Order: sequence, then C-alpha cells, then structure tokens
Amino acid sequence: MHVAVLGAGVIGVTTAYALAKRGCKVTIFDQASSIAAGASFANGAQISYSFVDPMASPAMLKKIPSILLGKDPNIKQKPSLEPAHLKWGAYFLGNCTEPKVTSNLDNAISLALESRTALQNLLAFHSISFRYKQAGKLVVTRDKSTLNRMQHAAKIKTGRGIETQVLSSQECWQTEPVIEPHYRDIVGGIYAPGDHVGDARRFTNALAQICIDQYGVDIRLKQKVLGLATDDDKIVGIRTGEGVFSADSVVVCMGAASAKFLSRYNIPLLIEPLKGYSFTIPASDQAPSVSLTDADHKLVFARLHSEMRIAGLADFDGDDMSLKEDRLATLKSFAERLLPNIGDYGHSGTGWVGARPMTPDGLPITRATKINNLYLNTGHGMLGWTFACGSAERIAEIMTRYHSGAAHQTGATNQKRAVQ
Ligand SMILES: Cc1cc2nc3c(=O)[nH]c(=O)nc-3n(C[C@H](O)[C@H](O)[C@H](O)COP(=O)(O)OP(=O)(O)OC[C@H]3O[C@@H](n4cnc5c(N)ncnc54)[C@H](O)[C@@H]3O)c2cc1C
Repeated sequence: MHVAVLGAGVIGVTTAYALAKRGCKVTIFDQASSIAAGASFANGAQISYSFVDPMASPAMLKKIPSILLGKDPNIKQKPSLEPAHLKWGAYFLGNCTEPKVTSNLDNAISLALESRTALQNLLAFHSISFRYKQAGKLVVTRDKSTLNRMQHAAKIKTGRGIETQVLSSQECWQTEPVIEPHYRDIVGGIYAPGDHVGDARRFTNALAQICIDQYGVDIRLKQKVLGLATDDDKIVGIRTGEGVFSADSVVVCMGAASAKFLSRYNIPLLIEPLKGYSFTIPASDQAPSVSLTDADHKLVFARLHSEMRIAGLADFDGDDMSLKEDRLATLKSFAERLLPNIGDYGHSGTGWVGARPMTPDGLPITRATKINNLYLNTGHGMLGWTFACGSAERIAEIMTRYHSGAAHQTGATNQKRAVQ
C-alpha cells in the first residue's frame, strides 16, 4: 500500500514511521520548507504521560466568564461568531461535566500508556538524540481546590499503573529545591517521577531521517497540498502545485489546519487552533532539573540540556497565527517573576508561537473516514508530543489491518466506516 501522509509535524512523521515499519510505501508532504515547522517546532518539551487531563472540566467552566470578559491573563478569546468556533465551544461545554472528565481522562491515559510503550520500542531500535531525559514532572498550585482535583486525578492514574505522588509544599521544595525561595505560597503538588522531557523538533527531524534512510520514505517539502484526487468515492491521490500524486491511501496529519482542509469534503472536524507561546534561554545552575508546571499560571518549564524551554498561554485567535509581541512579553514577564534565576532571560531570542490543534474533549481524532482510503490522525491539542507515538501506532494498525482485510471490498464494512 502506498500512503500519502499530509503533514511533517511530529504526528505526520511518527505516522509515516509506523506505516513504513509495517511495510507500507510512504510519501510525506508538507508545505513548509523544513520538518516540524508547525506546532512541533518549539513546544513545551514535556512528554507528560502522567498529566493528560483534558482542558474541559467543571473548573474550566467556572473560568469561562472571566475569559470571555478578557480578564484571564493566560487564556484569551478573540470574539468570534464563526459557526465552526461556536459549535466547537458548545461541544467543549458539553465536555465540562464530571462524567465526561472521567471518561476523557480514562481514554487519554490509555493513549498515554500506549505512547510510552511505543516510544520505548522505537528507541530500543533506533538511537535518536533529542535531549530526552526522565526528568520527572512536578505540578504545583497555590489553590487548595486545584490540589484536591489533582489529587483525585492522581488516584485514578495510580489505579491505571502511572506512578504519581501527592506532595505537601515542603515535599515539593525537597523534590525541586531551586523553586523553594520563589514558591513559598504553594499548597502542594503532584509529582510523577516517570515523566520525560525531550525536544520534539530534534526528535521529528531525526526520525524523518531514519524513515528516509532505513525505510525508503520520501519526504516532499515546500509542497502545499491543495486537495484530494478522487474517483467516485475513492481517493486516488492528492493534488499539489506540481500536479496529482497517486496514492492508495491518504492520512491527514495537518494539525490545526486539518479541519479547514477537510471541510470541503464534508468531513466536519471539531478542531480549533489554540495559540501558545514559548521561548528558550541558556540555563543557569539554578535551573530546575524536574520538569515543572505551574498549574495556576499554566506555565511549563522544561530543562533541555543546557537550555530552559518555557511555554504557556492559550489564545483562541481564529486563523491569525501571528506572534503577538505583547503576549510573548506577558509570558516572559510571568516566567521571570516566578523563577528569575533559572537562566539568562536577556538571551530569550525572538520567541515562538504555535497552534495547538484542540478538540473539545482533549482527545485526538485517529480513525477512518466516510471516504474510502482517507484516514485521520490529528487534533492532538496540548499533548501531541506526548501522544504522538501511540496514536501513530493506532492509525497504522487501523490502516494496514483494514487494507489487508478481506472485508475491505464489502459494502457492509464501508457502511461502518461511513460513521463519523
Ligand atoms: C506552546 C505550546 C506548547 C506545547 N507543549 C507541549 C508539551 O509540553 N507536551 C506535549 O505533549 N505537547 C505540547 N504541545 C502540543 C504539541 O506541540 C502539538 O499537539 C503537536 O505538535 C501537533 O503536532 P502535529 O504534527 O499534529 O501538528 P504540526 O506540528 O503543526 O504539523 C502539521 C503540519 O501540517 C502542515 N500542513 C498544514 N496544512 C498543509 C497543507 N495544505 N499542505 C501541506 N502541509 C500542510 C504544516 O506545515 C505542519 O508542518 C504544545 C503546543 C504548543 C503550541
């Protein structure tokens, strides 16, 4: 089977790897001039198997009025009456109930565990240098009710075999001593010793090279995919500026651009771009060695060898992907106020903005579609780096099982696949 993978972010490249490993011929297309040029470029670097909690929750519901009034410094919502955005919002609200949180978290944990295994398997076969480290992750809060919620979720995670420890403020300071002088006001936190950090861009580039060298994958950059080439209800390839490229199957891994691309084929995806910012500074000897999340300010600090990656903010800005200097300045000043000694803030460079492809339930969309031979692996939101290897295995399994299955040609199976 020859598969066209649309998108060369961490999801597209891990998908290509999982397919090539199963014997597929794979060609990746991306409009950018380099691999991992989108959301996978400079994300928060946390491979965060233990903290896959969905954004939609009763606690988030309480924050919505202040977000809509523009009073939340971390989350901004540009007023929008776009039907797709309103629909997304309605589904998001629908996911803010306790039962939904529990089932969404449960599904997210399953994917996180599969992703952990898949990445371990990959690294057992291939030596990749991407600043990967089992740094452990510490999430701290100043708010008792947030801690209670995190504690409740920690119990669920422990029940699923993910080690998490509930810590007092004292124990948080012992776990990461450099935060003590600056985090005197926390009430406690959750520590997950098994969590990792790693640079998604380095990983994606290195894996892409392995795909080329060892699996014969073809990667075509600077090729914007303009549309799908179809024959009746079947995909026969894709269209780029250079013409039609034939393929037996297509898998869409376009991140935040996926919904718009597919809307013309009457495949409505609930994915909204949620902009986040990051910057990277040279680390000092006061840099934390655990990966740290400030749950109240929604800021993450991850040490990548000699550098600190700091990421945060969540802006619904429609299609505007531009880096807003005032928002980047907000992130920088938050971080410097919280942890002033962890590195050289004077060398924070130009900063970076990326669009998290958010679904209302916080779970990626990894499945077949109603169009024959068209598949989706997209919508990984805030956790694409964490979920990449597991969802790549899932979609590759679906695609190859389906393609080789005898039921492939039957109308009955096609009916089943038509369900969105
Ligand atoms: C600030 C920030 C911090 C984050 N921190 C973390 C973290 O700590 N841990 C974690 O697990 N996740 C994190 N994430 C989320 C994670 O980075 C994303 O979920 C992940 O990168 C999504 O990968 P992707 O491959 O789907 O999308 P992308 O990396 O955006 O790739 C999509 C690709 O599709 C291409 N494309 C789009 N349209 C077309 C077209 N028409 N033709 C050809 N190519 C096209 C784009 O050029 C792009 O290269 C963070 C995200 C942000 C923004």
